[in-house]
Amino acid sequence: MDVSHILDDMNDPQREAVSAPAGSMLVLAGAGSGKTRVLVHRIAWLIQVMGAPSWGILAVTFTNKAAREMKGRIESLLGQPVGGMWVGTFHGIAHRLLRAHWQEAGLPREFQILDSDDQFRLIKRICREMNLDEAQWPPRQAQWFINTQKDEGRRPEHLDEGGDPFSKQMGAVYREYQSVCNRGGLVDFAELLLRSHELLRDRPDILHHYRERFQHILVDEFQDTNSIQYAWLRLLAGKHDNLFVVGDDDQSIYGWRGAKVENIRDFQKDYPDTRLLRLEQNYRSTGHILKAANAVIANNPSRLGKNLWTEGAEGEPVNLYAAFNEVDEARFVIERIRRFVEEGHRRSETAILYRSNAQSRLFEESLFQAQIPYRVYGGLRFFERAEIKDALAYLRLIANPEDDASFERAVNMPPRGIGARTLEGVRAHARDFGCSLWKGAHDLVKGGALPKRASGALSGFLDLMEQMSSGAADLALDELVSQVIAVTGLSEHFRKSRDGRGLDRVENLEELVNATRQFSFDAPLETGVETEDLPGADTFQIGETAENPLSSFLSHAALEAGESQGDAFEDCVQLMTLHSAKGLEFPLVFLTGLEEGLFPHSMSSEDPVRLEEERRLCYVGMTRAMQQLYICYAESRRLHGREHYALPSRFLREIPSEFVREVRGRPKVTRPVYSPAATRSTEQASGYRLGQRVLHPKFGEGVVLSAEGQGGSARVHVNFEAVGAKWLMLAYANLEPI
Ligand code: ATP
Ligand code: MG
Repeated sequence: MDVSHILDDMNDPQREAVSAPAGSMLVLAGAGSGKTRVLVHRIAWLIQVMGAPSWGILAVTFTNKAAREMKGRIESLLGQPVGGMWVGTFHGIAHRLLRAHWQEAGLPREFQILDSDDQFRLIKRICREMNLDEAQWPPRQAQWFINTQKDEGRRPEHLDEGGDPFSKQMGAVYREYQSVCNRGGLVDFAELLLRSHELLRDRPDILHHYRERFQHILVDEFQDTNSIQYAWLRLLAGKHDNLFVVGDDDQSIYGWRGAKVENIRDFQKDYPDTRLLRLEQNYRSTGHILKAANAVIANNPSRLGKNLWTEGAEGEPVNLYAAFNEVDEARFVIERIRRFVEEGHRRSETAILYRSNAQSRLFEESLFQAQIPYRVYGGLRFFERAEIKDALAYLRLIANPEDDASFERAVNMPPRGIGARTLEGVRAHARDFGCSLWKGAHDLVKGGALPKRASGALSGFLDLMEQMSSGAADLALDELVSQVIAVTGLSEHFRKSRDGRGLDRVENLEELVNATRQFSFDAPLETGVETEDLPGADTFQIGETAENPLSSFLSHAALEAGESQGDAFEDCVQLMTLHSAKGLEFPLVFLTGLEEGLFPHSMSSEDPVRLEEERRLCYVGMTRAMQQLYICYAESRRLHGREHYALPSRFLREIPSEFVREVRGRPKVTRPVYSPAATRSTEQASGYRLGQRVLHPKFGEGVVLSAEGQGGSARVHVNFEAVGAKWLMLAYANLEPI
């Protein structure tokens, strides 16, 4: 058999990993060394050379996007579709297991997924009902506590009774929250993993079935697995010793969410026969970019240590741009992108990366103004927008009236005269009788104890829901969604809203109808026709019809996390946080906002452990770049409504100067230099004369040194008496000639 296409273009250690005999394997290697590529080729090898059936393979990736790409690449290597293979994220795969075995997992058939925003609202409500003072017991902290417990595999009953007052109180919130979730068939993200772990642990027949089925389990980005994910993997792998994991301790960036880089070390202990392979050759980045990134990460004391090198060209140095402020930063980035595209490159070859989601808005506005198509990954994802969640709440309530979180959201949105007192009554009733809000509302209306107006408003809502639910089964999904948007009054509400975003919101709702139309009911769950003879399969039912299109769409909305937002085929500039950039690569990368307080984040800069994680994040960002890397920082930045003056990030100092080129050196000129030609062009561009004295509201008096750009992007270089020379955007600087 000719297998050269699987081993071609591989170096020796890569080839060794791809073609290794069965057994567990850990590939520990730096960024861009081909880990993901090795994983893909390994799967092709398993199928083509070792004769593994594709349904016997389980591959875990970090995002849904990566899963789709992986499947595509394997199919193109093999030249045929790979039906039956499970490729997905931990959450996606756990969800799939729970849908297939909802009964055994103790869930209602139509269980709904709570995303983190839904979860937060529910916890907040519970804290309020428990009369907890928000200042002393912030709901965010309770959410964090609950998720941490679940990530560690702990149920409320596992909590230490004799704990400190904080843990005791949080434990009580956890207990109450979980009972509300159980009653309403609500499953949060951490619950997906925990419950599917318990399912496998407590049902030997089901575990046996999947162990027999998944002869090969492969995991990308292993450094970011948390305790429950690792436990889940170990359970599923059993004694097979068939785990093939790839990772990089230097890219572990989810410690704040419970990921345990120690899993890499434990893996070698837990599977003593593991083969450890290191890849040290980087194929992604130019020499300068790689050396700069290596120099930064070298400042982290606790590393497993490795040395990455490239045979590729040195390339140009890392470009450093000192922007005057965030507007100037955006202007600069967009001008460079424009130039890059004019040189014949595709827009999708460029990525703008930032530490915090809030930074994306200005880039979005500037790109929009410049009419450059862009796509934001992560951030405020489509399915997380308020108006979309409002519409989804109705859909979820139709799918499952016991869903309290959705009841809370939908009941008075748009406002329909159901007052806070009435709702309080509904909640109290539900609490007293241990029933859902939906049932509680029915009881109250029937009981006749409510004032007439309140009762009318509440029963209006219940009737509306019943009317929509009864017709739901006869409608196609998109028809149902358009009906919901119209009949509930949501569309009308936003159309009339005066917050300036009303039409946007209406458009988004229309987009939701489109999304449901396009949503092709996910391939039915793999029932494993090929596996039905496996032992254990006759003791339980695989619920292949457990999901109807509505439920299936709602799960998709919660899990998809906006990764496919926008038109996937349009040539767009890519915008994303550093966290979302993991595993990706782009010829041109802009790493923006490298300022103390922003990156490293102020919450992390004092804590050595978190600072190391920030540094790894910086390493991840830098190593996304293939050909060109621009790093930008701003002297001042308006963020969250306030102006900040920050020092350049310490990470910049960690890059040796030989690998860096300042795009424009920091101004050293203290005296204006006169030249008639320069004077003319400066005047034309800015309307200011070279050498002219000006007054700035903050920096005081200064002298114009030079100018560049025109119109909205015109900038002047002014030497201020008090603060030295600065570049200012004319449109924002409020300069006055004096
Ligand atoms: P990260 O740590 O960022 O996830 P990685 O180790 O997974 O990186 P890949 O994304 O698999 O690295 O590979 C980086 C780039 O190098 C890709 O473009 C890949 O196609 C290319 N590459 C990897 N190995 C080789 C090789 N032997 N020959 C040519 N190109 C290679
Ligand atoms: Mg990778």
